[in-house]
Amino acid sequence: SLRFNRLRLNGFKSFVDPTDLIIHEGLTGVVGPNGCGKSNLLEALRWVMGENRPTAMRGGGMEDVIFAGTSTRPSRNFAEVALVIDNEDRLAPSGFNEADTIEITRRITRDAGSAYKANTRDVRARDIQMLFADASTGAHSPALVRQGQIAELINAKPKSRRRILEEAAGISGLYQRRHEAELR
Ligand code: ATP
Ligand code: MG
Repeated sequence: SLRFNRLRLNGFKSFVDPTDLIIHEGLTGVVGPNGCGKSNLLEALRWVMGENRPTAMRGGGMEDVIFAGTSTRPSRNFAEVALVIDNEDRLAPSGFNEADTIEITRRITRDAGSAYKANTRDVRARDIQMLFADASTGAHSPALVRQGQIAELINAKPKSRRRILEEAAGISGLYQRRHEAELR
């Protein structure tokens, strides 16, 4: 699996000022008062891994992740999130395996959509989604437990519960590839 070292946010939701989070080994918990941005942090992590469903970001449109402004601060024109991944063991898939760390960056600009980079190279959303799907840590990963998700899992229909388990088993990347092969 891929080890996350850092999460950097800039203009993402309530994180208007550049914020650099160091992620240590083991389980990470986020605590703080209501509205301080705990859920936004988790959404930033999903977003940089290629999340493309606005509903998963609690917004109406993809641009809603950009800092919208407050009574004292103007809105921003872009949001950027970077995820720094440890690759000292050089276990990353080919195409991502050229350095000791992989820095995945996603940036959204108003009216211009999202762009992704892996270190300095431009990559497609799909490349990023596949990287994390194979490592079973992707945007829809069961390793990230959203607020209210435990109750959802308990109440889920068998089909969607199966999807969650497949994601945990790391085989969802295979399904995606089969689906694309069938379309060809
Ligand atoms: P709780 O403990 O209630 O779950 P939380 O710590 O999870 O709270 P979040 O939901 O992450 O808090 O953060 C909510 C805050 O983020 C709100 O103040 C909201 O106004 C702010 N916010 C969300 N999107 C944006 C945006 N695009 N621009 C500016 N602020 C935003
Ligand atoms: Mg929350």
